Amino acid sequence: MTATVIDGKAFAAKVRGLVGEHVAMLKADHGITPGLAVVLVGDDPASQVYVKSKGKMTVEVGMKSVEHRMDADVSEADLLAMVQMLNDDPTIHGILVQLPLPDHLNSDLVINSINPAKDVDGFHISNVGLLGTGQKAMVPCTPLGSLMMLRDQLGSLSGLNAVVIGRSNIVGKPMAQLLLGDSCTVTIAHSRTKDLADVVRRADIVVAAVGRAQMVPGDWIKPGATVIDVGINRIDKPEGGTRLVGDVDYDSCAAVAGAITPVPGGVGPMTIACLLANTVTACCRANNLAEPE
Ligand code: NDP
Repeated sequence: MTATVIDGKAFAAKVRGLVGEHVAMLKADHGITPGLAVVLVGDDPASQVYVKSKGKMTVEVGMKSVEHRMDADVSEADLLAMVQMLNDDPTIHGILVQLPLPDHLNSDLVINSINPAKDVDGFHISNVGLLGTGQKAMVPCTPLGSLMMLRDQLGSLSGLNAVVIGRSNIVGKPMAQLLLGDSCTVTIAHSRTKDLADVVRRADIVVAAVGRAQMVPGDWIKPGATVIDVGINRIDKPEGGTRLVGDVDYDSCAAVAGAITPVPGGVGPMTIACLLANTVTACCRANNLAEPE
């Protein structure tokens, strides 16, 4: 069997297209332009690349994009004051504080200072609680994008066995909540899981969010399973230079799986598309307007 390759790049372009149409409608019918503010602390190169790309795509779909850069040694008080200013700004509907923050800053405190209605990353404790209790939440972008690809690929997920490898607050746990919400039977695996291979072999859906290059081999995959590879790892190429790979060994998994996301070009592009979609959703909620589907 050779797996269907789930084209996250094309899917994300489609989502951004729909977001763009909704933004145009909000402007034309209501005179409202959704606004997304990104706060970047310090000069971490990977974070700078993400923030640049987010800003570019925000503008491309017709939204207002604001970027605030703060020095790596910014005080917590100054960062909290920045978040407060954005909370109070009616032209800003989504606020994202780029993680990770430097060690001297308390990330939980900063994230929980964002107005939950503007928390387009879905990391605020209120949104975590709303998602966990099946209420209307802001849903973290990477799990949301992964769920959209799964639904598109499989239709109903009801009754399927899903294994999420990884239990982080930003990917693993919310992913598991979303799969549970779609009536999967969910197992969350992590570094202490015994017989991980056996656990994964039972899964109709495997979501790998570990951060270990090519950790999942093809012989762990149940034939026909759908594999969502969240991992982004840079490895050395034998001929020199580097390349990006996921948390699953793509070639051996693609030989067994029914469908699989590539790295790059799978989950990554969907994450930004969902961030834009969440900003439009936040804007609609703030203005008591119908939300996009
Ligand atoms: P974290 O480091 O926060 O979490 C990793 C999880 O993997 C932990 O729960 C850890 O278990 C588990 N783990 C580590 N080693 C093993 C092992 N040998 N077997 C089973 N489980 C293990 O990572 P994130 O969730 O933030 O990110 C995961 C990956 O996803 C990274 O590669 C990251 O770059 C990528 N990512 C991609 C995004 C995208 O847009 N595509 C967005 C966000 C992340 P334990 O809790 O026991 O330590």
